[in-house]
Amino acid sequence: MEQKVRVRFAPSPTGPQHIGGIRTALYNYLFAKQLKGTFILRIEDTDQTRYVPGSEEYLKKALDWCGIQPDEGVDQGGPYAPYRQSERKDMYQKYAQQLIDAGHAYYAFDTEEELNEMRERLKEARVAQPQYNAITRMTMKNSLTLSEKEVKEKMEAGEPYVIRLKVPRKDEVRLNDMVRGWIMVHSSTLDDKVLMKSDGMPTYHLANVVDDHLMKITHVIRGEEWLPSAPLHVLLYRFLGWEDTMPKFAHLPLLLKPDGNGKLSKRDSLKHGFPVFPMEWIDDDNNQLAGFKEDGYLPEAFLNFLAFLGWNPGTEQEIFSKEELIKSFKIEQINKAGARFDINKAKWYNQQYLKQKTNEELAEMLLKELEKEGVASSREKAAFVSGLMKERVTFPAEIWKNAQFFYVAPQRYDEKIVNKKWTEEAVTVLKAYANALKEQSNGISADEAKAVLEQVLNDLGVKMGRVMQALRLAVTGEGSGPDLMPTIEVLGTAETASRIENALERLGDKVKT
Ligand code: GLU
Repeated sequence: MEQKVRVRFAPSPTGPQHIGGIRTALYNYLFAKQLKGTFILRIEDTDQTRYVPGSEEYLKKALDWCGIQPDEGVDQGGPYAPYRQSERKDMYQKYAQQLIDAGHAYYAFDTEEELNEMRERLKEARVAQPQYNAITRMTMKNSLTLSEKEVKEKMEAGEPYVIRLKVPRKDEVRLNDMVRGWIMVHSSTLDDKVLMKSDGMPTYHLANVVDDHLMKITHVIRGEEWLPSAPLHVLLYRFLGWEDTMPKFAHLPLLLKPDGNGKLSKRDSLKHGFPVFPMEWIDDDNNQLAGFKEDGYLPEAFLNFLAFLGWNPGTEQEIFSKEELIKSFKIEQINKAGARFDINKAKWYNQQYLKQKTNEELAEMLLKELEKEGVASSREKAAFVSGLMKERVTFPAEIWKNAQFFYVAPQRYDEKIVNKKWTEEAVTVLKAYANALKEQSNGISADEAKAVLEQVLNDLGVKMGRVMQALRLAVTGEGSGPDLMPTIEVLGTAETASRIENALERLGDKVKT
């Protein structure tokens, strides 16, 4: 029987996760859901020097906002709890010991200075990548060069030490990555990585492999930056005797800057003003980093945008709900090449999803905005306004910004349109239209408002096209906007007539001859 799929997202709480991390979470989630598997959130916090308070909470809120719910994890619990590595500290020592006993790891007592000296020495000898490896280890202070007695003495004297992996000198390490195919690395290029630090904490490498094994992870889906660590992890699986159940690996493509030159980073956000984080974050230098959430992106749009940063279904379809993504996502369709970040695409997605919202859903958002501004509105009016505006905006907050005239009579009139369109002819028509509207009941429909206008135009022998912008200007203050007749329907005849009269009074002397 096929093993049940179990995947994990394993972030380190070293600051806010940028969208690359959230994409990793999303791909893991989609893969798990499609195969009725389990999606796990594990917090990898063994590097206490890099710990940034608040990052775990930030991450959980971000996942929650975009609808990526873990099945097991720090808050959900599960059969392999705890899911925070610092709480699993005592489990790792045993495996480090197992590696030492089998001759695959050793104790090393070198101080920081001694390590630096070694690197300097190798640099002088023109070694391109100075490493603690099969050759250099024999010149250092470790349990391979020191006698058993010396090692014991040092330990008893409380000298700090680490445990290092003994990488074989000549070996080929192979792995079949689901995105990249076969990868072969010669062990001579690998470092004798530290597995246990002098503070008794495991490093990422040991904790990650041990936990993936203990938590029965079947697939490791993670960012490309972890690809160089993968051969080391394969060695660990081998040396721990777990190679048979080693998870399959899939390393995701990098997220690139908009121009394709280099990795997308927080600096790009600061430079261009677009978000690269799911939610806002204030960094150590007091920079306020923009968030997709606060910038007005809808979580569904964000998710869809994110899914396409590195994957596509091979068809023309671009709009995918979460459920459709779950059905269609395939690891084999993930690109190897880096994915270029394009904020305009994110905006496009937002617009598409905004259009799909019902007027009532948008009214909810608009009402909140109105409340902040202290403007009263019925739910009905808010829904009507939202319906008129939703095709014309990218973000929900723009509905209020661009549709204030539905609530507040214009205080100023677009100068350019005044100069071009405020003609004597228009003034005549507008006067007559205001009068005609006043004879109608207040609750007029868009069609009726139009019929009244047509009658006026007919009587005066003027074509509609010649006065429409002046009418819009009088009613809204702007030269463009949503359909005007439905706008008049929302405002009612009394308000529309009074706005026209107001404009006639204020702009009357600017008549173009
Ligand atoms: N803790 C690592 C990170 O911060 C996890 C990498 C992995 O998934 O193996 O991304």
